Amino acid sequence: MKCEEARELLEALHDDELVPQTRAAVLEHSQVCLDCARALKELEALRSAIAKAERFEAPPELRARVLRAVKDRSTGVASWRWRTTSALAASYAAVAILGGSLAYEVTSTHLQRDFAVQEAVAAHVRSLLDERAFGVTSNDQHTVRPWFAGKLDFSPAVANLEPEGFPLLGARVDYVANRYLAALEYGRRNHKITVFVAPSAGERFAAPRPASRNGYNILEWTSGDLNYRAVSDLNDQELQEFATLMQQKTEK
Ligand SMILES: [Zn+2]
Repeated sequence: MKCEEARELLEALHDDELVPQTRAAVLEHSQVCLDCARALKELEALRSAIAKAERFEAPPELRARVLRAVKDRSTGVASWRWRTTSALAASYAAVAILGGSLAYEVTSTHLQRDFAVQEAVAAHVRSLLDERAFGVTSNDQHTVRPWFAGKLDFSPAVANLEPEGFPLLGARVDYVANRYLAALEYGRRNHKITVFVAPSAGERFAAPRPASRNGYNILEWTSGDLNYRAVSDLNDQELQEFATLMQQKTEK
């Protein structure tokens, strides 16, 4: 079973609406696929938050506004299952705005992260299309790191991974998900990896978190006070290797 198919069925699985054979296939997939396992967990968290929340009837106008906002964030995802969750999240978000509760955080944090990941992928793709996107072209971390001074209010750690087969290509300042951050470009054969670096500001990733979006692999981790988000069309195994090396070399 493929991820797309499994994602479509997660809600039905959760609602116990699947025939045994399909149910087994989805369960089997989510046991081997980290992404889908996480999606299922998030769905369960969202659903149980909704179940626990006090139900208010949101005024129709507020409900419509939240629903529109959620839809805007999820363009491109066209399954009715997803729309059901969006609608549910929307009515829930509306409820939570009125009621105020922890569960709203679940929805809101999820949407924010989703938005940030989508923006990071878009920024990576833009950089692939435009070679001039480099602010500094250098394979020397001692040139790249000071280049950021005065351009950002934090100093990104820049690791030399050339010996491990991930040469530094250059860097730039990018504007992603409404904030300025450092974008480091690394290479691997004919692939490019963009690593976006920003102060963690309360959002920390306990362990590297893998995800994929539009055919790109994404890996997020926290090292020191900084959050890293790597985006690449490189396979997830090598991207994981890259992230581990980067983590080791920037932790000191
Ligand atoms: Zn999957």
